[in-house]
Amino acid sequence: MFNLILFGPPGAGKGTQAIKIAGKYGWVHVSTGDILRSEVSQGTPLGLKVKAVMEAGILVSDELLIEIMESVFRKNNTAGGFVLDGFPRTLNQAKELDRMLVKLGTIVSLVLSLDVDEEELVKRLLKRAQEQGRKDDTEEVIKNRLVQYHQHTKPLIEYYESENLLKNVMGVGSIDDIFTSLCESIIS
Ligand code: AMP
Repeated sequence: MFNLILFGPPGAGKGTQAIKIAGKYGWVHVSTGDILRSEVSQGTPLGLKVKAVMEAGILVSDELLIEIMESVFRKNNTAGGFVLDGFPRTLNQAKELDRMLVKLGTIVSLVLSLDVDEEELVKRLLKRAQEQGRKDDTEEVIKNRLVQYHQHTKPLIEYYESENLLKNVMGVGSIDDIFTSLCESIIS
């Protein structure tokens, strides 16, 4: 089982690249943002619980995310691999992920971190707001999401560096060039 974490700030292109990687290698793409958005749009109890938090650009609680991921792993326990996109986002989630993977008899194989500077991120997120109309892509909420990233998610870089699992990939350029760089990092 190959377990890849696609890491990076909001707007780094994780979603786009995760879909391409999952398609190429036959791995299961897990986007916690997509899972949560689908719960919100279906108006499930979970969706109702997280709607306001998501729309404010704040992280949903670790407890709920861990429940979601437990269920994802339970349903896909014969998968050849996973591409995790948007999870883990806190140190606690990262440690829980390690624990869940141990239960499946596996570990995190690799963390690919997409590097994109902040100015470019804001530009991309505002463009996505116009194209997709995501409620959390307004200027105010984008600011919150970047603050959340710096406070809670960025420290994971050190965690995965210390485990020797982290590789950086330039997240600027054409989608295909970035995809090629990611694939090279997966096989090398
Ligand atoms: P994303 O599409 O990955 O940018 O996620 C959209 C929103 O979903 C985030 O701003 C959070 O509110 C929530 N979310 C997604 N993944 C997580 C996670 N791993 N931990 C906490 N909140 C999350």
